[in-house]
Amino acid sequence: MIGLQLAAATETLAAFEAMLAEQGIDPSPAAEVRPEALVGVASDGRDLGSLLQLAATAAQFDMIVETQLQDVARQAAAVSLGTHPQVTGYVRMVNPGACGRCVILAGRWYRWSDGFQRHPRCACRHIPAMEDAAGDFRTDPREYFDSLTGAEQDATFGKAGAEAIRLGADMGQVVNARRGMSTAQVSARSVLVTSEGTSRAGVAGRSGVRGARLMPESILASATSRDDAVRLLREYAYIT
Ligand SMILES: [Zn+2]
Ligand SMILES: [Zn+2]
Repeated sequence: MIGLQLAAATETLAAFEAMLAEQGIDPSPAAEVRPEALVGVASDGRDLGSLLQLAATAAQFDMIVETQLQDVARQAAAVSLGTHPQVTGYVRMVNPGACGRCVILAGRWYRWSDGFQRHPRCACRHIPAMEDAAGDFRTDPREYFDSLTGAEQDATFGKAGAEAIRLGADMGQVVNARRGMSTAQVSARSVLVTSEGTSRAGVAGRSGVRGARLMPESILASATSRDDAVRLLREYAYIT
């Protein structure tokens, strides 16, 4: 699991740099990123082992593993967003098999510091972007819908929902996008308050609420500026 986490984080960082270079943006981060700082930690900041122990069945275990690997990739993306001051935001991209809630969010642009709304097994990703970049079915709800077969449309949106969309209904009206969606570290604010209150220096690995570690995405969300985000990412040892 540790090796898979490291691979997911490293791949995301490399993919981000490639996408930045493609957009003519200097891909080198403002600081050296330490993907190993994301390893062994669950996406809500607790110890990964303790989360895996909560699985009561093999199916639950698989769900946790899959979700954690997707989340670690997204946390790596958050570090990358934080360390590229030229990048003002990201676009949300779906991957094949996405659910209706995710499809209707495809292509939306978010500020660099906005947390990523996701649900268990969600495979959606950040694309670094200055603004909404259209032209790919993975970032356009309607194009994505049209790329599916009728049966896939039914499976993703429900039979009635898919039929309504085929008849021209607004996709956002058909899907309840918020159901079951949250950022990876929901209690980030209390983690921040606790760890900030405990010590201002050397907090890497230090326990906050219930031993939780402040995750990169939460750092971006709570930072007062880009400089503050970089400072906090460094303080928590995500970058050097
Ligand atoms: Zn989804
Ligand atoms: Zn998703």
